[in-house]
Amino acid sequence: MNPGRRTALRLLAAGGMLSAAAPALAAGDEEDAAGIAPEEARAVIIDVDACDGCGACVEACRAARGAGVPVPRGAAPRSLWSWVRARDWSDRRDVRWRLTPYNWMYIQRCSLVWKGRRRAIYLPRRCFHCLNPQCVSLCPTGALRQERSGAVHASPDICLGAGRCPRACPWFFPKIQAGVGPYLNIFPRLLGSGLSFKCDFCWERLRDGETPPCVRACPRGAQHFGPWRDMARLADDMAAERDGEVFGKLENGGTCLFYVSSVPFWHIEAALLVQRGIGPGMPSLRPAGVSMERENAATRLLLGAPLFGAGLAALRLWRDRQRKRP
Ligand code: SF4
Ligand code: SF4
Ligand code: SF4
Repeated sequence: MNPGRRTALRLLAAGGMLSAAAPALAAGDEEDAAGIAPEEARAVIIDVDACDGCGACVEACRAARGAGVPVPRGAAPRSLWSWVRARDWSDRRDVRWRLTPYNWMYIQRCSLVWKGRRRAIYLPRRCFHCLNPQCVSLCPTGALRQERSGAVHASPDICLGAGRCPRACPWFFPKIQAGVGPYLNIFPRLLGSGLSFKCDFCWERLRDGETPPCVRACPRGAQHFGPWRDMARLADDMAAERDGEVFGKLENGGTCLFYVSSVPFWHIEAALLVQRGIGPGMPSLRPAGVSMERENAATRLLLGAPLFGAGLAALRLWRDRQRKRP
């Protein structure tokens, strides 16, 4: 997505209204459909058939990234708005069974029967790093940004914890930690609620040509990392060999994380649902559709609202005048 369009969407997301560019924004365009070029992106494959759920990747992530998440000094300020809930995870930093601001990756587990055989399924879950991420487009402060590698990460200097990114993400990956971040120095009870955290694809390491720690830590060789096109081809080949499926290559307009499995993802999703493996902090495997379609629809709605309101006001005025007529 070009920067102008992204900025305008942020303004709308922040509560701004119409601009002269509105019709062009709402219309959308094909060549604008991707945030970054897959040629420049990096991707990870997680081989679901090879993963045994050992959790080494989770521990590697916690050591490399989660340990750096700040802890609030005192109680988080209570927002003036009843719908803004301060979520403080600092006394539950050991939680590993779900995603939290301090735990950016966890192992989703279920048991199922496929082709007459009982199978244990382990899915290391974290942000997909979508090629065209709506969490970036809809962040009102511009704190979320995307690198050429595809890594989507938040700047702790700008993030106010506005809470748009968790709602914008089809899988609710970002988690807000209350009581930390710049909102404390502005209007803590009026504006913001903390800082947003999720897997950031170890973006500085990618920039320096390194492999993410979670991939390196895997003792089973269940994770592969490389250029997006190579990983996409490899994922397709792996799936074809075992008559399986790839999840993440096309979802939400394409992402930088591909799961390969011989068990269909709809079957895994169904087992997770039955076994209560999906819920807060435990994302679904729901296909999300193309992000820009949703974004454009939301933009059209925002742009159309004032016109609709003006139309209603005119109708009311006309009716009042009709009633006053003798
Ligand atoms: S998976 Fe969600 S949080 Fe991650 S980049 Fe995509 S939209 Fe953003
Ligand atoms: S890429 Fe980095 S931040 Fe993301 S799960 Fe792996 S180690 Fe954690
Ligand atoms: S380290 Fe490898 S085998 Fe262990 S849970 Fe992570 S992906 Fe699976």
